[in-house]
Formats: sequence, C-alpha cells, structure tokens
Amino acid sequence: MTNDYSSNNVFVDNAFDRLAHKRTDPNWVQKRLADRDTRFVGVWQHRCALADQRLHFFKAGELSDFDLDQTILLGDVDGAACFALDFGDGPSPPESVAHFDFQGLRTIGMALDESEAALAAYAQAMSFWHRRHRFCGTCGNPAALKDAGHVLDCSRCDARSFPRSDPAVIVLAARDDRVLLGRQASWPPGRYSTIAGFVEPGESLEDTVRREVAEETGHCASEVRYFSSQPWPFPSSLMLGFSATVSAEPVCDPDEELEEVRWFTREEIIERETSGPKLVPPPLSIAYRLIEHWFNLDSDIPLAEIVSR
Ligand SMILES: [Zn+2]
Repeated sequence: MTNDYSSNNVFVDNAFDRLAHKRTDPNWVQKRLADRDTRFVGVWQHRCALADQRLHFFKAGELSDFDLDQTILLGDVDGAACFALDFGDGPSPPESVAHFDFQGLRTIGMALDESEAALAAYAQAMSFWHRRHRFCGTCGNPAALKDAGHVLDCSRCDARSFPRSDPAVIVLAARDDRVLLGRQASWPPGRYSTIAGFVEPGESLEDTVRREVAEETGHCASEVRYFSSQPWPFPSSLMLGFSATVSAEPVCDPDEELEEVRWFTREEIIERETSGPKLVPPPLSIAYRLIEHWFNLDSDIPLAEIVSR
C-alpha cells in the first residue's frame, strides 16, 4: 500500500487475516477448537510463551488442563486457525506450561519476526481486555464470552462490552532543520524522544497534538499531519503518529512532565549517536520511526545506519 508507513512499525502485520466473519459462527469455532492443526498463543501476565526464541504455537493436545472455550480467535496463521489462551496473571504460569520461556514484548518485540510480533501483541491486548472486563460494568454480574472471545455479554442486564484500544498521539515537532525532543527523568541518560499523550474525550486528534505540544514544551503547534499508527500493547494503547511545525519560541509555560525539552539538528543527532549514550529511542517504537522519517528527508546517511554503528 503506497504511503502506508504503518507497515514499518513493529507489532503491525498488514497481511494478517483476522477471520472476523467467522467469529459469529459457533459451529465453525467449535470445529476449529477440535482441529489438530489449530494453534494457540499462550499469554501469562503480560508475556507470551516462547520456545527457541520464537513464539510457541501450542496444539490442543498440549492444553488438556485448560478450557479451550475460553480462548479468543485471533485469525489465520499459515492456513490454520489461531487462538489466544490466557494462562492468567498469577505469580507463576500454570505447572503444565511453566517450562516455557515467557517474555514481555518490550524485550523480545524486535527479535521476533514481524508477523509473530504482531500476533503476540494482538494476543496480549485481547487477554488484557478479558481480564479487565470479567464483570459487567453496569450491574457487576459475571460477563459471558461470545463471538469467539470478541464480545463479553452480561446475562442479567444485556450490557455488552467490546475490545478497546486507548488512543494516544505521538508527535514529531520540527521547525526548519531542527526537531524539538524531550526527556523524562526516568529515561536512560542521554535519551530524548518525541512528544506524546492520551487523547481526551471530546477532543479531535489534531487538538490533542496541539494541547500536548503546548503542555509539554510550551511551543505552539501548527500544520498537524498524520503519519502512521502502531498498536502498543502496554497494555492497550493505539499510538497515532503525527508531524507538526512548532513555533520558534515557547508561547506558554510547560508542565513538569518532561525534565528537559530542547532542539536538535541532524548533525547533533549524529554526534550524540556516534560518541555518547544513545539519543533516539529504540526502533521498537513509532517514536523512532517518526524521528527516522524526518531525519532521512535531508541526510545522505540513513538514521538506521548511524544508530547501528
Ligand atoms: Zn450487567
């Protein structure tokens, strides 16, 4: 797809078929759950089960201790149906699966191939949603799972809940040949990144960009342009990447979320990346992709080459 920069982002797999039209067919779902080719992605806490540094696909035969009716249909993986199975968030994984290596996606997201990383992120986000919506938000009755795990239904008051994502904007704020980056006190020394924040109810995405840039940097943002998006399952965000032109000087006092905000030229980024602690965030995040896209617009050497030195 031309100009769809989201395909560069980790946790995105544009080719994945979610089999959404099959979710409402309980006969098809039951047949797939009994099919020996069907695969299951195992989630415990906010981690996925791995084997040999790859996502482990369980077969039903390995899961006789678990109720497969509580699984969530993810989609088609190499011609077979694939479901997520949540092993809960207890202090350790259930005994029969405890020998697997459970890892968080911040740790292994870049090491997995792109389709496995996207599938793991999807499984993790769906499992988190199930755990947080076990009871009806209206009347408190236990919620029943429907549509292959994509609807939670209250049998007492008929309230239904659906999987949710929390939208957040992330902004490449630039002017002329400089980019405005900030750092939080808790980050590794020398690290700076783009401006980010959650969308509030009643707010357009463009308004969120302008508000967050003003709150965090004191600068005024204009020419807000959409760039790309990234599912961010920590635990359930959708990062919406934008670029904006910002005022040369601050126009108001920033809040204290960021320890420091400052301008960088491309030359300063090269200098920091090659001689000191790493400046830009790791390529796992859309923040890196935003900085990379801006950087490469006017550089003979791609940013990826500089950060890998
Ligand atoms: Zn209810």
